[in-house]
Amino acid sequence: MDLKQYITIVEDWPKPGIRFKDITTIMDNGEAYKYATDQIVEYAKKVDADIIVGPEARGFIIGCPVAYALGVGFAPVRKEGKLPREVIRAEYGLEYGKDVLTMHKDAVKPGQKVLIVDDLLATGGTIEATVKLVEELGGIVVGCAFLIELTYLEGRNKLNEYDICALIQY
Ligand code: AMP
Repeated sequence: MDLKQYITIVEDWPKPGIRFKDITTIMDNGEAYKYATDQIVEYAKKVDADIIVGPEARGFIIGCPVAYALGVGFAPVRKEGKLPREVIRAEYGLEYGKDVLTMHKDAVKPGQKVLIVDDLLATGGTIEATVKLVEELGGIVVGCAFLIELTYLEGRNKLNEYDICALIQY
């Protein structure tokens, strides 16, 4: 299946110059959503993941069905102030200023093999911060999987040590 045809490109959103890749038109098509999920499930089996970690919010949309299909757990990465118990935090740079991602301190156990899942790899800042959180908890990042990679932003360069799977590239 050519998944690219299910992505809607929205010009100049959320601001001028950005070509936003809207994945909701994959999700609202049962066949396309299942196909995309199945591809990542196969990758997760290959890297032998025993837990899925995904950043909010679109990382949940991709990561949760993968975890369900494998019968493994899912641990959410969230913006500061959203998780109710003790967290660890990682700061990451945005175009202007910085943001913070958090994870529950007990979300990943030392030695667990973690697959990080998100909708899209752009500059790689989000995933770099997510890797930091997982490793601080003692998890082993066995791979990072995305629906989409924007290769021209070279996010991969921030993730040199890690195995990457991207179903669609621009
Ligand atoms: P980054 O930290 O730069 O890799 O960006 C990560 C997040 O920003 C991705 O998970 C996307 O949700 C979102 N994002 C960045 N650029 C785009 C884009 N062109 N279209 C859709 N989402 C984007």
